[in-house]
Amino acid sequence: MAALDQKNLVAEMTGWRRDLHAHPEFGFEEKRTAAFVAAQLRAFGLDEVVEGIGGTGVVGTLRRGSGNRAIALRADMDALRITEQASHDHPSQNPGVMHACGHDGHTTMLLGAAKLLASEGGFDGTVRFIFQPAEEWGKGALAMLDDGLMARFPFDEIYGLHNMPGLPVGHFETRPGPIMSAEDNFEIVLRGLGGHAARPHLGREVLVAACAVVTNLQTIVSRRLSPADISVVSVTELITDGTRNALPGFARILGDARSFRPEVSAEIERQMRIIAEGTALTHNCTAEVTYTREFVPLVNDTEATAAAVEAAATVFASGAVNGKGEIVTASEDFARFLDHVPGCFAYIGNGETSAPLHNPSFDFNDDALIHGTRFHAAIVRQRLPVT
Ligand SMILES: [Zn+2]
Ligand SMILES: [Zn+2]
Repeated sequence: MAALDQKNLVAEMTGWRRDLHAHPEFGFEEKRTAAFVAAQLRAFGLDEVVEGIGGTGVVGTLRRGSGNRAIALRADMDALRITEQASHDHPSQNPGVMHACGHDGHTTMLLGAAKLLASEGGFDGTVRFIFQPAEEWGKGALAMLDDGLMARFPFDEIYGLHNMPGLPVGHFETRPGPIMSAEDNFEIVLRGLGGHAARPHLGREVLVAACAVVTNLQTIVSRRLSPADISVVSVTELITDGTRNALPGFARILGDARSFRPEVSAEIERQMRIIAEGTALTHNCTAEVTYTREFVPLVNDTEATAAAVEAAATVFASGAVNGKGEIVTASEDFARFLDHVPGCFAYIGNGETSAPLHNPSFDFNDDALIHGTRFHAAIVRQRLPVT
């Protein structure tokens, strides 16, 4: 087993990351990215590399020693439909698509860990390197699971990282229990009778009704759910078929709700139906609610989180590891893996001057790469110790 030169690894990873950044691919279209990942894993000498899991997913397997336990490490590969406003020299070559969430960095950090562990070993058992498609859709993890991931590539625990703008580079943060929320989407369609803007009494226009629905939806979180439960109900679009001098007879209200327990999600839906249908009735029109669940809550396992914090303490500076971080009301489909095995999802700093996630100016901070790679290797060595 040869010790890798860290300086060379950092330079190599920076090259991979910038190449991936320049060639972003939308969810389930990560063909170039997946081919690159698989080629690299094969070049590192992994025991097995399988492509096409759940569409464009890739799983690499590395075995050392005789241990029968397996640890999975997961990265996401997809980009977003955002037009990049880059001020660096590796901008997106794919118009309208960009790595605005740093999945180029996540993929690179996991590739770095595969190279490091394949070269240096230092563990006894099996490592599964999982590169998933379509995280932003909330569909990629499920697609891999539905494609037999657990049966074909079994593992006992799983760990994942996401970069965090605002958190200094070289810092690590997680928490046991709920860490990221469920995401539900909703659509409320109001139907009445459109007509002349000057003669509203002859129709049943829906815009005033729609405004009342939007306002009344604000009482779900403030008056109908327990203050002890964290939740968000956001209306994000209101579209009608009206024009300047014609009242609309049709309106669509779209939005997004976040919560941390299935019971809360169910109650948000129930209250939304009461409010939409009741409010529409008082305005002499009808409401139809479509409510869908896109992401489940991400709940970290207590023991796996303690292990992650302990492993992080061996590779991050003292004072740079926070095992009691805050709950975030964004969502992550890493949560789907935790329906099958215990695990922990954690954040690593992308720097205090980083643009926010999903911002057209966002770029993964290459200085963070080695920290993520070293954490991945550390958690494997800790959970699969050589005895
Ligand atoms: Zn994202
Ligand atoms: Zn992301």
